[in-house]
Amino acid sequence: MVEIVPEKTKKQLGETVLQVNNLRVAFKTDEGLVQAVAGVDFTVQRGQTLGIVGESGSGKSVSTKALMQLLPPNAVIDPESQMILHKADGTTVDITKLKSTGREIRSIRGDEIAMIFQEPMASFSPVYTIGNQITEAIRAHKKVSRKQAREIGVDMLARVGISNPSQRFDQYPFELSGGMRQRAMIATALSTNPSLLIADEPTTALDVTIQAQILRLMADLQEEFNMAIIFISHDLGVISQVADEIAVMYLGRVIEHGTTRDLIETPKHPYTQALLNAIPRIENLHARLQPVGGDIPGPMSRPPGCAFHTRCPQAIAGHCNVDLPPAYRISETHTVSCFLYEDQPIAEGGDA
Ligand code: SF4
Repeated sequence: MVEIVPEKTKKQLGETVLQVNNLRVAFKTDEGLVQAVAGVDFTVQRGQTLGIVGESGSGKSVSTKALMQLLPPNAVIDPESQMILHKADGTTVDITKLKSTGREIRSIRGDEIAMIFQEPMASFSPVYTIGNQITEAIRAHKKVSRKQAREIGVDMLARVGISNPSQRFDQYPFELSGGMRQRAMIATALSTNPSLLIADEPTTALDVTIQAQILRLMADLQEEFNMAIIFISHDLGVISQVADEIAVMYLGRVIEHGTTRDLIETPKHPYTQALLNAIPRIENLHARLQPVGGDIPGPMSRPPGCAFHTRCPQAIAGHCNVDLPPAYRISETHTVSCFLYEDQPIAEGGDA
């Protein structure tokens, strides 16, 4: 039997895996340059889950695709941005500086960072068996024989809770149910033992029961493999079940960041408060839910000042629509970009 949990997973919990500093991504379009991510900072540690929440168009998926250098050709990452990956061998690399088609980023994808998506059919080819695709992923990153790769793959399918794994291994993606395909995709992503797993809306297409099973599975696997996870969702309720820390994004910026307890128990930003008010609460199931009013503006029509001012019930006229709020420090773990907290100190590096 091949050992699939090598020594790199036995490192200390809390070790930094990834540090993103002032990430800025724009897209070249016929109408000019569109800023999709406008200066995002975060750190992810081994054994920790960072939840990134935001509506579609907030820049959350663009930020994580930048980490894999999977952006479309018209994307431009600002050369001042940094995405420092602490690799399993102890070296560091700034992903911003890598070519999207180069050898180094190809070895990082899968080996150091793996990604799972909402729709597994998008990442599995329909014409190859599940086993074929897992084997290919393993052999692209590990020097093992086909037989050993099969052993690793079948073992991973068993670990993600797929019954009759050796039989499933030889089936095609369409022969599996939606929940099972999602498990198989997680198995494929984890079969190379990455340090960081990016999960982009991984449970959105699943019904609530399967969703709960997949979230539990991810938590168990994180504990077993001691990996870092970036969990992206539009749903603050789902994020709060899995994340240790949450970053709330709005039009390309992080507008509030804190521990899950900070954001769920004492949300500060009017947008975070609005997202929370839109979630049904078990203790108050009869309460009327309040969806966030209005729509997120398109990136071509980014409002000046605080980008949320067009939807904010507490906007201060002449201030919020003119000035960009810096990040204010609420506590050691909690920052918010909103002028309602101007009496708090500006966080380090949080200048607007
Ligand atoms: Fe609302 Fe102003 Fe705070 Fe923006 S800065 S969230 S507009 S109060």
